[in-house]
Amino acid sequence: MLIRKLKILYYQYSFWFVVSAVSVVLLVLSVVGLLTMDSFFAQQQVATLPLETLKMIAWSILSALFFAKILYSGRMMTSSRNPRIKASDIQVRMDDVIGLKEAKREAMEVVALIKDHAKLRRMGGRAIRGILMEGPPGCGKTYLAKAIAREANVPFYSLSGSDFVEVFVGVGASRVRTLFQIARNQAYISGAAIIFIDELDAVGRARSFSFMGGQEHDSTLNQLLVNMDGLADEKGGNVIVIGATNAAESTLDPALLRPGRFDRKIMISRPKLSDREELFRYYLRKIKFDASLDIPRLARKTVRKTPADIQNIVQEGALVAMRDMRDEVTYKDISEAIERVDLGQQTHLDLTPGEKERVAFHETGHLMVLYTQHPTDDVFKASIKTRGGALGVVYHNPREELYTRTRDEIYADIKTALAGFVAEKIKYGNTSTGACSDFSNAMAIASDMVWEYGMSTNGFIGDYTVLLKNPGRGGESRISDSLKDHLNSESEKIMQQAAKDVEAFLKKEWKLVEVFARELLEKSELDYDEIETTFKAHGKERVTS
Ligand code: ZN
Repeated sequence: MLIRKLKILYYQYSFWFVVSAVSVVLLVLSVVGLLTMDSFFAQQQVATLPLETLKMIAWSILSALFFAKILYSGRMMTSSRNPRIKASDIQVRMDDVIGLKEAKREAMEVVALIKDHAKLRRMGGRAIRGILMEGPPGCGKTYLAKAIAREANVPFYSLSGSDFVEVFVGVGASRVRTLFQIARNQAYISGAAIIFIDELDAVGRARSFSFMGGQEHDSTLNQLLVNMDGLADEKGGNVIVIGATNAAESTLDPALLRPGRFDRKIMISRPKLSDREELFRYYLRKIKFDASLDIPRLARKTVRKTPADIQNIVQEGALVAMRDMRDEVTYKDISEAIERVDLGQQTHLDLTPGEKERVAFHETGHLMVLYTQHPTDDVFKASIKTRGGALGVVYHNPREELYTRTRDEIYADIKTALAGFVAEKIKYGNTSTGACSDFSNAMAIASDMVWEYGMSTNGFIGDYTVLLKNPGRGGESRISDSLKDHLNSESEKIMQQAAKDVEAFLKKEWKLVEVFARELLEKSELDYDEIETTFKAHGKERVTS
């Protein structure tokens, strides 16, 4: 161990070893020279020595300052930030990583390979060098990387790709070189080390061929590639590079993904329903909450939210409770927190009673169609409190992440969007500007149905957007104006049909519409339970797919 450390000392400071050896030789030579001189000249030399030395020191300091100012103005040097974290200082264990079952299994495999490095070598296996973690931000990539280091008990160096992005050509590259050098030395002592590069895409995006500004980036990336290849013949210890990226793999330089570089991939995905439940339990454990709090429902309400979002929501919920001077967090607090995150703070606009009533009927229209006609969405809340710029909202979410959608489901989206407009029309005989954003949603969907999904009613199938502009075929649009007109009138037909369906439905259920509108006006907000109770009391069941 000691010899290893001394060796490293020598490798690291070999430059200084040479410098001191040369100075010693020079010193000896000058002393010998002085002794052989006539005594008068020798004394003269010795007398001017202090002044000469002072002059030299002053000059070196001045020029060093000058160069430092030019080169690193406003920027500290590489050593200013120590990216190293000791394994024992990492608080994250694999058990703290929630959900991500598949990713965790792969991570544990990596841990086993790091720990049993020697065995791997005996069996002739290739040591791991690069692991690419890919997934949306806030889903725990850093967490998982840290957990790997902790479980394998190896030093962990964490940097962000943007730390390497520099203006001056070569600075980023030298940073990469230094980082790898330090990690390699450490691995020599501890057996292995992990370098974690967050936002790998900042360094690793495909090399550019622009004349402006591309050089620095390219030299950094090249340095990274060279250093990763250098890890291959490492005898002393295993350096593993973990890169994390939110961007798709295709944006990375293909050279990075070649065998021997980032050739292992761990996909990090958003938490599933059961994972979100677990996440809520995990974060709620840290605060005091109402025992009757419905965690599964919170999990359903947070489709597509990341672990970081959920942590944020729980903290925000605690703040809501604190503001109301309660020491227990309730379902309502968390629910309010979700709406704050998604829709913005409540604002207080003074609507006239007439406007308020109109908003209530409009939102009731949405609510009725969602609850009884939409096959995939759950309704969590209907509200006529103003929030952000919205006058009212019916908060709904798909029951689970959907990867494909059927025509019925998409059509239900259109009906839901149009229901506010239709409800106003039935109630007042005229409509308001409040329908505008609903229309843009509905039209976008209807147009996609016809243009892209082959869901029109008269048998048009195909993705017609392909014909609009195709650079590979000369950039000319290959779609005639009459076909465009035809497709657009098809999507209009879908809109008309949806409005007609909704109108028939709402007219039939108008009594219930009046009930809900009145309730909304009274309470301003209806929660899931209240909505369900009223529907059940009127013999309406939630539609299920
Ligand atoms: Zn609306």
